[in-house]
Amino acid sequence: EIVFVSREIDPAENRVAASVETVKKMKSLGFDVIVEAGAGLASRIADGEYEAAGARIGMAADAKSADVVLKVRRPADKEIKGYKAGAIVIAIMDPYGNDKALAAMAKAGLTTFAMELMPRITRAQSMDVLSSQANLAGYQAVIDAACEYDRAMPMMMTAAGTVPAAKVFVMGAGVAGLQAIATARRLGAAVSATDVRPAAKEQVASLGAKFIAVEDEEFKAAETAGGYAKEMSKEYQAKQAALVAEHIAKQDIVITTALIPGRPAPRLVTRDMLKSMKAGSIAVDLAVERGGNVEGVEAGKVAEVEGVKVIGYLNVPGRIAASASLLYAKNLVTFLETLVGKETRALAVNPDDELVKATMLTRDGAVVHPNFATAQM
Ligand code: NAD
Repeated sequence: EIVFVSREIDPAENRVAASVETVKKMKSLGFDVIVEAGAGLASRIADGEYEAAGARIGMAADAKSADVVLKVRRPADKEIKGYKAGAIVIAIMDPYGNDKALAAMAKAGLTTFAMELMPRITRAQSMDVLSSQANLAGYQAVIDAACEYDRAMPMMMTAAGTVPAAKVFVMGAGVAGLQAIATARRLGAAVSATDVRPAAKEQVASLGAKFIAVEDEEFKAAETAGGYAKEMSKEYQAKQAALVAEHIAKQDIVITTALIPGRPAPRLVTRDMLKSMKAGSIAVDLAVERGGNVEGVEAGKVAEVEGVKVIGYLNVPGRIAASASLLYAKNLVTFLETLVGKETRALAVNPDDELVKATMLTRDGAVVHPNFATAQM
């Protein structure tokens, strides 16, 4: 059976869905691997390296022969046309609000899997692309902030005087936020953080940052069974905003990462809050693709809002593509392995497997995922 690793057609996507290590792994699982020429270049993997690992270098047209197509992003219509009916396609599918695209994949007879829907259970931890990519995004957010900040991050005591440490405030202490805290700490900043999930408090403290939040009864109950945030009441939001407003005025860098599954990103930083910061302060909004946490953020840009540089880069993991691809490729191959029969060494999708149930979007001409079953043609 043949696995095809495609070159991403979106010019803004630098990641690739296979690494040298995962090509070797797929070979050992019994697959023939075709990598589209140039697929790894933007992630610093040359065709020759894939070849040395046992892959054949091919063209886009070779996708037609593939039983499995590995991608970073959901295939565009013109890519779908190049796949054979019944092929398995695994990618970050961005399914919410994209009914038409799901219907097109169903119509083409593809069996498609959305990696970002992987359940957050122990067995699937090594397949969790949200975590692997958010972790790098949290790191990169601090690097991007440091590049735009006209001052030093650490306190420096020199013969010529003392430079104070930057004050960094991280809003949303999930996977990205915790890595942002750790990275800012390594650079010597004085770090504080907030979250609406009570479990975050201890994690923030264990990284040496100060926890800032209104800790009332609602806060104490604010985590879902899946470990995600709930949307908070208007009353809570107002109390929290007042506390945050007071805190932000004293910060140099704010990094926001707050998301609620299936909802627009909560608006946490207002223009007035930005105005209260020193000129030349920085806000990095990692939630920009879901509407943004910061008022005035512009997708793909560094915007100047009330004297603060608001960074709204898109696809932040793609800014650190060589690392992001290594982890993403590993997540993919670990999942692919679960679709291969142990004895038969052939592809065998088990619809009763909880990983398949959670991630399979289309099969046999239909949209099969319960969340998107209305996405018919
Ligand atoms: P996410 O990307 O959905 O959200 C980022 C953070 O924003 C979350 O911590 C959330 O609580 C926070 N947030 C939401 N609204 C907010 C608001 N109004 N103010 C401040 N913060 C707000 O979350 P994530 O990074 O994917 O992680 C969510 C949880 O899942 C974490 O506890 C994480 O450790 C856990 N997790 C578990 C597993 C696993 O068990 N396999 C894997 C990954 C993550």
